Amino acid sequence: MCIFCKIVTGDIPSNKIDENDEFLAFHDINPKAPVHILIIPKQHIENFQSTPPEVMAKMTPFIQEIAKKVGLDQTGYRLIVNNGEDGGQEVMHLHFHMLGGAKLKWPHLAPDTVKKNI
Ligand code: AMP
Repeated sequence: MCIFCKIVTGDIPSNKIDENDEFLAFHDINPKAPVHILIIPKQHIENFQSTPPEVMAKMTPFIQEIAKKVGLDQTGYRLIVNNGEDGGQEVMHLHFHMLGGAKLKWPHLAPDTVKKNI
């Protein structure tokens, strides 16, 4: 079972914000902003690339509700999905990072990793 599936089952504790039957939102253990929330489906889906559109259709309003619940709907936020190796995905269970609580800078490319054939 992956680490986020264990958070869903409660085998690993989390600082939960909200949940419903299908989705869960909790605070990132290593926050990169004053507010750094992870939003996941309870169902194990490996990454964004393999996410069925019908999951996203239901996940979108859940994400919007989380933003409202923590007040980021008023101040703004950034949603990030790291997908696969170049995307920097470390946990292979779909998750949206919701970052806010400060003005965010745009990140940079890792040096010397540009794929010239893409
Ligand atoms: P990613 O690199 O997009 O796969 O992001 C994985 C995120 O999961 C990182 O921001 C980690 O800090 C976070 N993370 C890993 N383990 C936990 C945990 N047990 N509770 C909360 N966040 C976690």
